[in-house]
This record gives sequence, structure tokens and C-alpha cells, in this order.
Amino acid sequence: MRPLSYSRVDTVEDAVALCREPGTAFLAGGTTQVDLIRAGMNRPDHLIDINDVPLTAVEDLPGGGLRIGALARMNDVARTPAVVERYPAISRALLLGASEQLRNMASMGGNLCQRTRCAYLRDGISPCNKREAGSGCAALDGFNRGHAILGTSEHCIATHPSDVAVALVAFDADVHLVGPGGERRLLVDDFFLLPADTPEAEHSMAHGELIVGIEVPGALIARRSVYLKIRDRQSYEFALVSVAAAIAVHEGVVADVRLALGGVGTKPWRARRAEAALLGGPADEAAFRRAAAVELEGAVVREHNAFKVELAQRAILRGLVQSLNGRQS
Ligand code: SF4
Repeated sequence: MRPLSYSRVDTVEDAVALCREPGTAFLAGGTTQVDLIRAGMNRPDHLIDINDVPLTAVEDLPGGGLRIGALARMNDVARTPAVVERYPAISRALLLGASEQLRNMASMGGNLCQRTRCAYLRDGISPCNKREAGSGCAALDGFNRGHAILGTSEHCIATHPSDVAVALVAFDADVHLVGPGGERRLLVDDFFLLPADTPEAEHSMAHGELIVGIEVPGALIARRSVYLKIRDRQSYEFALVSVAAAIAVHEGVVADVRLALGGVGTKPWRARRAEAALLGGPADEAAFRRAAAVELEGAVVREHNAFKVELAQRAILRGLVQSLNGRQS
């Protein structure tokens, strides 16, 4: 058994100061960190419990946006009236993202830091470039039904597992970080990295940096957003395909649209090609189908996951229709 020491802090400054040392890691809800330690994927020597740091608030921002504290629990955020009214897709993504018990414990910052569920990464023995750079990728020619078709590389095809990150990407949310080098902000879209030649790097946080908040800009279009999650079973399962969708139409023409996909990309996937194809055009099902096809043109499929191309297009269509009709199902 490896020794593991523990301390508890109640300020961001103390957390960041303690986490300068190698071998240190933060502990919030523990639903990701403890899992990864048990699986041998994280091997910290010292855990810094940050649960007393006052980062649980959900606060109004000028312009109708919201700032969500990094330690706010998934369930609390999902049920906050301002989130439900202004960003129903965020609320829905959180509620579909985990079991009730996990949602009561898991923090928003931890949700963004969770790692892919690729079974080859977690089994500890298969070749996996994320676990051991240069060892290969067992999923390329293995069982890859759940793997990504967008943003892949020859070194990794793992999907990003977070639901709420998909909705956050759709609404241009940013992540507020504090670390040894000071404060910085990154769009959630830029926070996550494509695997390219360095699949071991999943996000752009340095050691010792702490997520302190997530800010979602005000956007009227978000009030009619939907989040759809297609999975093998109805409860507590990761997405085969998910979509965050919102559309605003003026005199029959698409005036604004937000689309992001989960379950198909190596990071939460903002569907910018589809958005560009839709803007200024007719708001009808034929146009939605064409835009979805444009987005999936770049898909790279493997032996077991080609079905996701069609599934993602259908999900985009359904998401746009539901947003247009103001009805989430
Ligand atoms: Fe590892 Fe990525 Fe390949 Fe999975 S898909 S085995 S995480 S390199």
C-alpha cells in the first residue's frame, strides 16, 4: 500500500501554495479523484482537500450570464432556478450526467477534470498512449463501439465523457483558473485538447492550477436550448451521442444557432460547420439535415463505431427541431 497524506485548506491561496509541490493533488467531491487513485491512474503522495474553500455559489453576471463556483455540486447547479430558466441545456446535461448520489457529491470543476472512460486506459495492461506515451492504442483495432469519430488522431480515439461540458461549449462558457503563475481564463472549448501527437495531455491546466469558477455569458438563445443524450440504457450511462442545441429564427431565417456534440468527439465538440451552414438559411428540417451532414463529413470511423455518423446526424436534427418548437423531450 502506498502512503498518502492529507491536508485541508479553506482559501484558494492556501490551496495553490500547497499544490506547488510535485506529487500533490486537489480533492473536491472525490468522485473522480478517488476512482483514479484506486485504479492506479493517479498516484499522488499528498491530497489537498479544498471542500472548505468558498466556491459553491451560482451568481448573476452583468448581461444575464452566470458564474458557477467550481465546488458547486452538479445537483445544486442543475436545480438552480437561474440555470433552469436561462440555460435549460446545462441543467438537463447535469441531470443526465450521473446518478443522484454522484450528482450530490461531484463538483463542477471535478466534472471538467474527469478522464475518458476508455476501458483500455483503465484496465492497466493494454497499450494506451494516454497511460504510457508511445505504447500504442489498443482501441484502434480493438472494440471501439463507444469511441470517437471526430477530432481523433492515430494515437488516440477516446471520447470525452462529460455531458455538461458539451452544453458549456455550446454557450461559449469560460473556465477561471488560479495557479502559481496567477489567474487566467480560457474558453471551455480551448481548455480541452485534441489528442493529436500528445494524447496524454487532455486539458491545458498546469500542475497546481485550480479551477475556481465557470462563467457562462448571457444569451437569450440559450433559454430555448435542449440537451439530448442517446445511450445504450436510460440510466447512468455515458453518451453514444449527445447534442446541446439552440436555435433562434427571425422571419423564417436562422438568426442564431448553437450546436455542440458529446459522445463522438475526443473533446466536447462544438459543431461550427453545422452552425455556419445554418446561419442565414431556412429553418426547416431539410436545412437541418444538410447542416448535420456537413458536420459529420470529417468523421473518421473504425470497425464498430460507424453507426455514430448517422446517429449524430439524427440527434442534431431532433435537437434543432425540439429547440425550434420550444419542447425538450
Ligand atoms: Fe488509450 Fe486513447 Fe487508445 Fe483508449 S483510445 S487505448 S485512451 S490511447
